[in-house]
Amino acid sequence: SKPIVAIVGRPNVGKSTLFNALAGETISIVKDTPGVTRDRIYADATWLNYSFTLIDTGGIEPESKDVILAQMRDQAQIAIDTADVIIFITDVRQGLVDADSKVADMLRRSGKPVLLVVNKVDSFAKFMPDVYEFYNLGIGDPIPISASSKLGMGDMLDEVVKYF
Ligand code: GDP
Ligand code: MG
Repeated sequence: SKPIVAIVGRPNVGKSTLFNALAGETISIVKDTPGVTRDRIYADATWLNYSFTLIDTGGIEPESKDVILAQMRDQAQIAIDTADVIIFITDVRQGLVDADSKVADMLRRSGKPVLLVVNKVDSFAKFMPDVYEFYNLGIGDPIPISASSKLGMGDMLDEVVKYF
């Protein structure tokens, strides 16, 4: 069966925007899969000769900050249990926050392949200096993207498929 790639990250970092950009560019069908909970959305995607299943673990985001970390842990656990590659997405505008560090620790301990993606880098010239702090997460080189402008998608996908 196809490799599974899960997108994990805090509310508002751009998980769904990335999901839609990849699903829209690489295939056509984004659908709810029967029998899965509403907070997991699946799509088929392709890159080069590779086909994979993409999961947006985000869905319904909590309103209360108190439950954000708990939900992130649940989503990260879903990704650890089901994915072959995890895209851990952060936000260059908000910078590195404590919840990112906690979830990064959890992902690192899982031993699963994790790609550290830094979103909202709409201008590389302007925002690249702020990308480097994400090295502090200790889960590898940050990959800058702009999901809304579709910048950096190809380089990111090249890294994803290396794990297939
Ligand atoms: P999610 O909660 O992680 O699924 O985040 P969303 O995909 O819903 O995006 C949250 C907000 O960030 C929305 O207003 C998006 O339009 C915005 N956003 C997403 N990607 C980018 C990006 O690359 N650049 C900028 N400037 N905004 C973005
Ligand atoms: Mg979302």
